[in-house]
Amino acid sequence: YYSNQFTAQSAQVRVRFGAGLRRSLGEELERGGFEKALLLTTSFQSDLLAEFEGYCGGRCAGSFSKAEMHTPVAISEEAADYARACDADVVIAIGGGSTTGLAKAIALRTGLPQIILPTTYAGSEATPVLGQTENGLKTTLSSPKVQPGTILYDPELITGLPLPMTVTSALNAMAHAVEGLYARDRSPIASLMAVEGLRAFQSALPRVLADPRDLTARGETLYGAWLCGTVLGQVGMALHHKLCHTLGGSFGVPHAETHAVILPHAVAFNAPAAQEALRPLTDLMGHDNPGLGLWHFAQSLGAPMALRDLGLAESDLDRAADLSVANPYWNPRSFTRDEIRALLQPAWEGRPPA
Ligand code: NAD
Repeated sequence: YYSNQFTAQSAQVRVRFGAGLRRSLGEELERGGFEKALLLTTSFQSDLLAEFEGYCGGRCAGSFSKAEMHTPVAISEEAADYARACDADVVIAIGGGSTTGLAKAIALRTGLPQIILPTTYAGSEATPVLGQTENGLKTTLSSPKVQPGTILYDPELITGLPLPMTVTSALNAMAHAVEGLYARDRSPIASLMAVEGLRAFQSALPRVLADPRDLTARGETLYGAWLCGTVLGQVGMALHHKLCHTLGGSFGVPHAETHAVILPHAVAFNAPAAQEALRPLTDLMGHDNPGLGLWHFAQSLGAPMALRDLGLAESDLDRAADLSVANPYWNPRSFTRDEIRALLQPAWEGRPPA
């Protein structure tokens, strides 16, 4: 992966892996000198709070369980006010990208440090990126202020992730690594992490599907999520992420599912312009066309394969293509609006990439 010109920047992050690690949360608080933790979840995962208050061992100042998809600003401000009111000195997020997003939004507003216990593979915990929404508009910022300082990966927390979400969330994570491979600002180290992250998912996902409570396999997928998320935090994303952001932002199709459907099509489109960079993926998928290889891999996992099944109307495809070429992200292959429209058709129908 060596190339003679690159810039690599890594964040100072403490990362721990281990089954049952959540039970040492009290030690982590003590280590950081924290006395007043604020626990965060979505309303859907609020039943975890009592257990985690116990782990804090008297160092819990409060809990807030209103984390939501796309980090609405009104909720972030309410949560930041609450953090100030209970005089919190650290925020602890237990959940997926939405709950991590809320921790980051509080950190941005208050400067509080964060401890994240991920329960999906989205990877937000490993990035300095925060997307926020207000009045239907999503804005994204990147700042060391929002980069979580501690991540505790406990595979026991993810054994209950339902299988359909397991598959889509994993493909969401793999998309970060795939686009990291051909990123304009890729570095040898980011590429190594991308390849290892992809390998971990490819190896462990079939074992997770066979036994969702297999802690070794679940641990390996979390390891993959960490690597793929770290890549996302270090290098720029391209066409695939632009398409997913457009579809999620303007048509409300669900985040991880959209990644799962689009990835094989975006890769098949980019492959001719990024053959060398994609070589590790091509080898891993065992198919000359890495997009087609990914399509068969996703199908073997029972992933959603068609945008039509995610609630997108065929008549939305024209506008989706228009929006995707407005303010495009850098991409290894240049494209026209009509090429994007052509890419979206088989993705909508659930056919393999052309
Ligand atoms: P999510 O956090 O929105 O979770 C979806 C639902 O599943 C929620 O109701 C959640 O409570 C529930 N859930 C999570 N883990 C579970 C588990 N183990 N068992 C049962 N239910 C569980 O979904 P996500 O895909 O993790 O995150 C998506 C959000 O994260 C999007 O808003 C996306 O933009 C953002 N994101 C941001 C970054 C970044 O770097 N800033 C990276 C990736 C994703």
